[in-house]
Amino acid sequence: MDGDAREGTLVTHSGPAVLGLDIGGTKLAVGVVTQDGTTHGVLVEPTRRDEGPDAVIERLFAMGERSIAASGLGSVAAVGIACGGPIDAAAGVLSAPLHLPDWIDIPITDLASARFEVPAFLENDATAAAFGEFRYGAGRGVDSMIYLTVSTGIGGGAVLHGRLHRGAAGNGGEFGHVLVRSGGRECLCGRRGCLEVYASGSSIAARAREAVLERGDGSSLARLPEIRAEHVVEAAAAGDPLARELWDETTELLASALTDLVNVLEPDLVVLGGGVTRSGSALLDPVRTAVRRDAMAPAAAAARIELAGLADEVGVVGAAAVALDALEKKIHEGV
Ligand SMILES: [Zn+2]
Repeated sequence: MDGDAREGTLVTHSGPAVLGLDIGGTKLAVGVVTQDGTTHGVLVEPTRRDEGPDAVIERLFAMGERSIAASGLGSVAAVGIACGGPIDAAAGVLSAPLHLPDWIDIPITDLASARFEVPAFLENDATAAAFGEFRYGAGRGVDSMIYLTVSTGIGGGAVLHGRLHRGAAGNGGEFGHVLVRSGGRECLCGRRGCLEVYASGSSIAARAREAVLERGDGSSLARLPEIRAEHVVEAAAAGDPLARELWDETTELLASALTDLVNVLEPDLVVLGGGVTRSGSALLDPVRTAVRRDAMAPAAAAARIELAGLADEVGVVGAAAVALDALEKKIHEGV
């Protein structure tokens, strides 16, 4: 995917290059991204979060330096950083990310600016992914879109009239915590009945394990040593009644949350990403049908529902897209 290598230059034929850093709970991903969305020198390593923030951040920055060298593009004009919340995006501080215990009030953009000697920008990872999909993925060319990542948990972000919606401190777009079943399963956020505790990958697996214990004697799921979300999808496709029931409930509750979001925001496009969406049409078909059936007529007609376009590099590309956007705004404002 490498473009023209012009050693020692800041600006390539496709505009400035920026470094994207994606800080996940299990993996760190870095890469250089040019203005056309092309990635260069992408590196992925385990986070090893038990080593603590100082060691992990040092390793992350060293990966960034290796990535810049591998890209052959010379240097970068900015650094974009994506990390799960809670964060203070405007201040550039990792307040207390849920997936990184002991990372309290870390001034990550100051640290990155000092190391790479360029401006640095921080964004919630799902919000950054939404913007990456908008600029370079399934959302290219649309006016307004919402993005949900249905993975271990459920996160999301919204781009409204071409602008990323951040909320007051950059934690907006928590679509996983839309209520789908009042008084239902207990959620990490402290409420009961959130979408995340039904439709995330780990919740699908947990519901399946509970159902098997209660009434799963005849189900093929009962014969597995460990049940994961993809097993539920496979068994449902093979006609297992218990798996079918679990999967139907999953798609119905996801569609219920999307119907609310479509009614409230009337986007042109809903983009679904994350590991659970590898189920493809088994997820997309029933969700599309239910949202078209249940959303208010004008909104339902306007909103397409599509799978994400950026796959595994969405974290790096999203972080970089945020930095590129900030650079363009600075140029535009003449700062
Ligand atoms: Zn919740």
